[in-house]
Amino acid sequence: MDLRLRPLNDLPVRQFAKYVLYWTQMNRRADSNQALAYAADQANALRLPLLVYEGLTCTYVEANDRMHTFILQGVPEQQKRLEALGAGYCFYLRKRRQDNNNVLYQLAADAALVVTDDYPVFITAVHNARVPARIGVAFHAVDASCIVPMSAFTKREWAARTIRPKLQRVLREHLRPVAPIELRHRWRLARPGWHTAVTDCNISALAAACEIDHAVKPSLSFTGGRPAAEKHLHAFLLDRLRRYAREKNSPGSHATSDLSPYLHFGQISALEVALAAERHAEQHQLIATEFLEELIVRRELAFNFTRFCAKFDSLEALPDWAQLTIRKHANDRREHLYAPEQFEWARTHDPLWNACQKEMLLRGKIHGYYRMYWGKKIMEWSPSMEQAHQTMLHIHDRYALDGRDPNTYTNILWCFGLHDRPWGERPVFGTIRYMGYDGMKRKTDVAAYIREIEQMERTGADPFRLS
Ligand SMILES: Cc1cc2nc3c(=O)[nH]c(=O)nc-3n(C[C@H](O)[C@H](O)[C@H](O)COP(=O)(O)OP(=O)(O)OC[C@H]3O[C@@H](n4cnc5c(N)ncnc54)[C@H](O)[C@@H]3O)c2cc1C
Repeated sequence: MDLRLRPLNDLPVRQFAKYVLYWTQMNRRADSNQALAYAADQANALRLPLLVYEGLTCTYVEANDRMHTFILQGVPEQQKRLEALGAGYCFYLRKRRQDNNNVLYQLAADAALVVTDDYPVFITAVHNARVPARIGVAFHAVDASCIVPMSAFTKREWAARTIRPKLQRVLREHLRPVAPIELRHRWRLARPGWHTAVTDCNISALAAACEIDHAVKPSLSFTGGRPAAEKHLHAFLLDRLRRYAREKNSPGSHATSDLSPYLHFGQISALEVALAAERHAEQHQLIATEFLEELIVRRELAFNFTRFCAKFDSLEALPDWAQLTIRKHANDRREHLYAPEQFEWARTHDPLWNACQKEMLLRGKIHGYYRMYWGKKIMEWSPSMEQAHQTMLHIHDRYALDGRDPNTYTNILWCFGLHDRPWGERPVFGTIRYMGYDGMKRKTDVAAYIREIEQMERTGADPFRLS
């Protein structure tokens, strides 16, 4: 546990407290959650019950119906599973800006200590920097996002090839299930009056009552929550894993897991997905190596980058060669130029690019292979690399169910050369890797993908929806 644990202040555990509090920010699950397990161990050691607090505010960047719905859909099952363990559970939906913004501090006043998720980006990173000094009690962050804890590394890694051997060296000791939680003291106290009851029936009404952007509709493809996450994992193992290595770069084949929204909101853990994939591969004589490379090496490289590079959302984080080549080609003539809104509304000359953007608008993610093309073209058709970077971040913040993730910042910067190497010199890109339409046409079934997205746009339904 030590490598996962970061006490974020040096305050002592409070005497005569009523409970241990786990504030679940990013790992919104009762299963396979080391932060919850640590909070449970602390509660047992202190002979106290455990209270889990989950919040959703209207104030985060680009708060909208899509993100709110996905999170709210996770709440009923989360409550059910935590209560079955004997933990208390309360959920606070801050609907309006003027509503109480103090519930964490109210709960912490009766807590022996507060445990939360260690997470390097977005609102959780801001909370974890700000709250520990104000909370008045021990505040411990636990890394329940990575398989090999972020703290197993002491510095920024430069590429998949540098982190891979280090991960492999220690992987076996971390690739083990989280022990089942057994709480010795059941929660018997009343829930606070501000608790928001969420049921499968009131989710759209709750989202509608929030001061958020209602123009971004829920995804046509993904329902939030643990049961949906498990369904996606099951479907992946049953049908897609055996095709993954061969077809993962072929968007029309739907051979990837589509788990990134669930991983992002912590409704499923990378650990349990990796264990399930390994087990399934062993039982059915399959090879899961390519999938585990993405899920472990690529994903944990992203966590490493955002943990150790403060400027993870800036082009300043790029390696020198990439920054130099960007400067050298800043004034190159661009054949097409689009404003951020033209990108956002999928109004370019390129039907494949427009289909990628429409996939983002409708599904809330883009297939991994075309997502690279999507990013490279925004670079090519924006007046500057800075503006291209901002456009990509904005679209992810607003529409991507898996956005605002270490993977988001890292992979967007990958388009600009992060974790990559210099390639042949060409206009606009300089020595940054280029991707073109002809390559996409040669390697993938562009026409089938465009048809699929058009059908989804026309019918308002995703024929590949699983949950
Ligand atoms: C410009 C750009 C932006 C991206 N933005 C995001 C983002 O916001 N959120 C996000 O999760 N991924 C992002 N990615 C990485 C990748 O495209 C997605 O992780 C993947 O497409 C998710 O689909 P899946 O769950 O079906 O992936 P699968 O192929 O089934 O992979 C399983 C899991 O492995 C991880 N993974 C896969 N590819 C990568 C990768 N290249 N880097 C790191 N982890 C990976 C993800 O957690 C993924 O869910 C981005 C890539 C690019 C090029």
